[in-house]
Amino acid sequence: MSPEQFSSAVLGWYDDHGRKDLPWQQGITPYRVWVSEIMLQQTQVSTVLGYFDRFMAALPTVKDLAEAPEDEVLHLWTGLGYYTRARNLQKTAQIVMAEHGGEFPRDVDALTALPGIGRSTAGAIASLSMGLRAPVLDGNVKRVLARYVAQEGYPGEPKVARQLWDVAERFLPQDRVNNYTQAMMDLGATLCTRSKPSCLLCPLQSGCQAHMLGLEIRYPIAKPRKALPQKRTVMPILANREGAILLYRRPSSGLWGGLWSLPELTDLQALEPLASQHALHIGQRRELDGLTHTFSHFQLAIEPWLVRVESQPSDMADDDWLWYNLATPPRLGLAAPVKKLLKRAADALNTGEQP
Ligand code: SF4
Repeated sequence: MSPEQFSSAVLGWYDDHGRKDLPWQQGITPYRVWVSEIMLQQTQVSTVLGYFDRFMAALPTVKDLAEAPEDEVLHLWTGLGYYTRARNLQKTAQIVMAEHGGEFPRDVDALTALPGIGRSTAGAIASLSMGLRAPVLDGNVKRVLARYVAQEGYPGEPKVARQLWDVAERFLPQDRVNNYTQAMMDLGATLCTRSKPSCLLCPLQSGCQAHMLGLEIRYPIAKPRKALPQKRTVMPILANREGAILLYRRPSSGLWGGLWSLPELTDLQALEPLASQHALHIGQRRELDGLTHTFSHFQLAIEPWLVRVESQPSDMADDDWLWYNLATPPRLGLAAPVKKLLKRAADALNTGEQP
């Protein structure tokens, strides 16, 4: 779709389906649009409705807000959270009164210079209440555009954000920018939703890259996870003559709390002390394929060693250690990677491979 086709599809949809009855869409002024935009940051439309009406009834003009006691403003905001927004709101009202003669500046850069007004909020005030050609890139619009162009990269990165702003600029129509902006916000809020976009009803469907790829949910790309710290451990799989494996119960608190696990060693040198602790004679050993297990705060690289031992199964006196019979496994809680390793050990022992 050309930019003209794009914006006319959006405007056509707005005429038929766009929301036109929201309180801040009535008697539109920069003040009303600005207050609604600040309230809508991090808050659903349905919640904002009541707050907006009460706020406007108590403080109908920017002058009223500038002159109100701070307690009154915070009281009207109670329940919306993020009270810095309310304080910035009043600061901005005071600046508008003191430096702009009570009128919001008709310029995106000047609007952005006011406390609590970012580029997207400035764009919304400028386009919705002044009809200026200024793009908006709030969460909803960002989702629509990132999907439409299948934008790669996390939009929190400055380079990716710049690319999306360029896309937003490119599709802006010459006329009816106010309706277009409202429509784009509505599209994101109602059709192009985060987890279940209604692409069949969407006016942009025929040009939407994410939809063509069948990858709507992939966009916008999620914040990349930080690389986790790496740890390593050696897990000896001590197998006795009967093919049973030595396990121990982990302390009830901490990682894999209360689950049964393989012993952990810092290196293979520590095998001897472990064996003598349990009166075992070490036989042949061999390394099995390792595996990496990801915890929320680190990654654990596990080096498993299958080690044949001579033991007396009946000798096990300690309740926190047992011989786990691979052929008739007891019903125990096992840590997930340990379960995998026991399977590998069973396969190695069954194929008759000698450690
Ligand atoms: S076609 Fe689907 S993914 Fe693309 S903009 Fe429309 S609703 Fe969003």
